[in-house]
Amino acid sequence: MDELRKDPTRGHWVLIRPKGTAALDNGCSHCPGAETASGAEIAAYRPEGSAANDPDWQVRVVPESNAYFRIEWELVREGVGMFDMITPRGASELILESPRHDDTLATMATEQIEAVLWMYRDRLVDLKKDNQIRDILISRRHKKPGVPPHHPYSRVTAIPIVFDETRRELREAREYYQYKRRCLYCDMLRQEIGAKERVVTLTSTFVALVPYAARGPLEVWILPRQHACCYEEWITGDSARDLARLLSESARALAAGFEDPGYEMAVHTAPNQKSRILQGDWATIRDDYHWHIEIVVQPERANRVGGIYVNETPPEAAAAALRDAWPR
Ligand SMILES: [Zn+2]
Ligand SMILES: [Zn+2]
Repeated sequence: MDELRKDPTRGHWVLIRPKGTAALDNGCSHCPGAETASGAEIAAYRPEGSAANDPDWQVRVVPESNAYFRIEWELVREGVGMFDMITPRGASELILESPRHDDTLATMATEQIEAVLWMYRDRLVDLKKDNQIRDILISRRHKKPGVPPHHPYSRVTAIPIVFDETRRELREAREYYQYKRRCLYCDMLRQEIGAKERVVTLTSTFVALVPYAARGPLEVWILPRQHACCYEEWITGDSARDLARLLSESARALAAGFEDPGYEMAVHTAPNQKSRILQGDWATIRDDYHWHIEIVVQPERANRVGGIYVNETPPEAAAAALRDAWPR
């Protein structure tokens, strides 16, 4: 049985997972026509009159095969002597972003990306109904080394603990708020928009910028200009269209200006507030946390010394290069 174990010296969680046998992959099980191969769909956008698991979908959500986290497992929190263990109850889903096998964010129409963004919302809303799910990560990889090209998808990972990185972010945001009574991200946006040098582009609803302490060259964050802690509560027709356009532009800028590098994109949004364990958990989260998207180019190449990132491209220079490559 798989287990989430906590390293008490670092506070990290580790998924201990004895190696199983992966299913053999013949052809793409995510292309239209292969619906039976990918398992019964969880959700889909399809034309009126089209039935579940038919091939005429626009965006489709399926369970990930060989999943790390499974909804049918029972949630058990257990002390093992001095150690903590939790069963990996949760969900691992793939949001198939397009019926077209070769699509990327750079080639998809913005209407298609917009539909994907609405599906992000739907999955967050649906999974957060389950109060044993504490945190949900939506991410997508483009060109991961060692992974053959595959059907374009975003991955949804819902887990019974808070992801280490989210926990760190939440803590920093809360401490900043306790001290200043202002949102850390709202303050950062004000300062960055004023200074301009790290801003890549600005729309009526979003800022795309290279963060002050970017971990690698070409790291980009996309933040809503208006404060909101949760992605799923914030999305509307106008803002979804705007975000779809920005994501398309950032993917096209990387493809055209920087030889189409691999990247990882992740939605950083508040955890499931229904899953509070202690009364004081996330008491000010609605005011102190600010959802956003982070795009990290070639994360596997990150240069680190004793945990400290070494970035040889100053963020100001990266922002200038991205502005030059940005589609107009
Ligand atoms: Zn395919
Ligand atoms: Zn804010």
